[in-house]
Amino acid sequence: MIKERWQIGAFTVTKVVELERSSENGRPGSTLPDARPDLVKEIDWLHPHFVTDEGWLKTSIHALLVETPDIRLIVDTCAGNDKDRHLPQFNRLSTTFLDSLANLGWTRESVDAVLCTHLHVDHVGWNTMLVDGEWVPTFPRARYFFAEEEYRYWLASLECEAGLDGLTAETLDLMDNRAVFLDSVKPIVDAGLVAMVETDAVVAPGVSLMPTPGHTPGHVSIVLESEGERAIITGDMMHHPCQIARPQWSSGFDSHPHISEETRQTFLSQFVDSPTLVIGTHFTSPTAGWIVRDDTGYRLKF
Ligand SMILES: [Zn+2]
Repeated sequence: MIKERWQIGAFTVTKVVELERSSENGRPGSTLPDARPDLVKEIDWLHPHFVTDEGWLKTSIHALLVETPDIRLIVDTCAGNDKDRHLPQFNRLSTTFLDSLANLGWTRESVDAVLCTHLHVDHVGWNTMLVDGEWVPTFPRARYFFAEEEYRYWLASLECEAGLDGLTAETLDLMDNRAVFLDSVKPIVDAGLVAMVETDAVVAPGVSLMPTPGHTPGHVSIVLESEGERAIITGDMMHHPCQIARPQWSSGFDSHPHISEETRQTFLSQFVDSPTLVIGTHFTSPTAGWIVRDDTGYRLKF
């Protein structure tokens, strides 16, 4: 397991990887259908950290462990073990993710809070674990923070036969959203561990949510501020650093691709040339950097 670490004032952020892969993009059905390998290769700063020689996108599924003087929290809980999924890359995983946490001194009981940027398959998996045939909260002492808007959206979509916003029942199953909700979200609600919050809530001193809708309606990014320093965890506001250079490339999995583009444009213009460290939720190493201008738009400096 690769891990990286950053210091933001008195806060420490550590990356724990569950899965990494590279795959050909630029096809319908892929994460970024507009990111054709020949177009990706035109963005030269992406190679070799974020793309392969072929112009394929490298991606990472990881959790970010945030330790502050007040709280120990995990941002996004990856895909999890033992879960039945249509998506083969997430089906019935058996990784050593929890051992990696424990090796860092993060036992399950030591976690105070869990934040999910949104409620997709690769962000809520370790919310629960399988014990004696039942899905139980992995972090029994933690409060799990869900944006209420996000939770309500999925709840309504799953209750409605035809889905909402064009999400057909078939799409919901194909993307595993129904199963994800039942095995990784509902058990947390049933256990009474959820704090439903607004998309701009302050969840702990120096830790707040920033609404970044588009990928999902209640999607949030996480703002960390300590001793005059600031970092932002992107969530899936952007899946890959290529979207810093090409913010118009939206994901095929965005519920509202035009809104997600708008969100990226606003974010980039707000934080360009600022000392804010941007930590990517699916970026491969070096994972974090600063938004700067270049000849054609924006890039990540790292
Ligand atoms: Zn994701």
